[in-house]
Amino acid sequence: MSTDQHAVAEHTHDDHTHGENCGHEAVSHDDHVDYLHDGHKHAAHEDHYDEH
Ligand SMILES: [Zn+2]
Ligand SMILES: [Zn+2]
Ligand SMILES: [Zn+2]
Ligand SMILES: [Zn+2]
Repeated sequence: MSTDQHAVAEHTHDDHTHGENCGHEAVSHDDHVDYLHDGHKHAAHEDHYDEH
């Protein structure tokens, strides 16, 4: 069983880059920040976003 499986968001950094004033609400989640995006949450992870 894989211990590193995670959900990769359908959106990418090329589609949209989250950051200050990007228009999405930032939510603290443990040691990182998620961004609310159309009903799901993105967390930046290397070259893609994870779905949280
Ligand atoms: Zn998205
Ligand atoms: Zn954003
Ligand atoms: Zn998160
Ligand atoms: Zn990831």
